Amino acid sequence: MATKQTRPIIISNSEGGQTTGTLHYVAYTQKELMGRAWKALGLFWGLAIITVFIPLAHFFLVPGFLIAGPVVAYSRYRAKDVMESASGQCPTCHEESIILLEASDQLPKWTYCSANNDPVQLADA
Ligand SMILES: [Zn+2]
Repeated sequence: MATKQTRPIIISNSEGGQTTGTLHYVAYTQKELMGRAWKALGLFWGLAIITVFIPLAHFFLVPGFLIAGPVVAYSRYRAKDVMESASGQCPTCHEESIILLEASDQLPKWTYCSANNDPVQLADA
């Protein structure tokens, strides 16, 4: 089962200010990662088969989907931890901030605090 998990992180700014925060992410098991990868491959190769019947567009859509399938499947398989958000006190404005993250984000990462758009870096504690 995919489980929502949290772990402590360090939120810092360029002036050396530092606070601690919490990273929220979803962790997948090895089996679920395989399942997600196969699903992505099936979706893209399915689209490749469907687009065979579209005149002219099939010259680039079919090879495009055939290539994208394994590429997306591999990146799904590697995405063990899917990032959701980071929360904590901003080291610059000292306001509580919830920063939404992209699924593929990796730490350390520079981003902006949600309260005042101060540049902050999120890093593993
Ligand atoms: Zn701030």
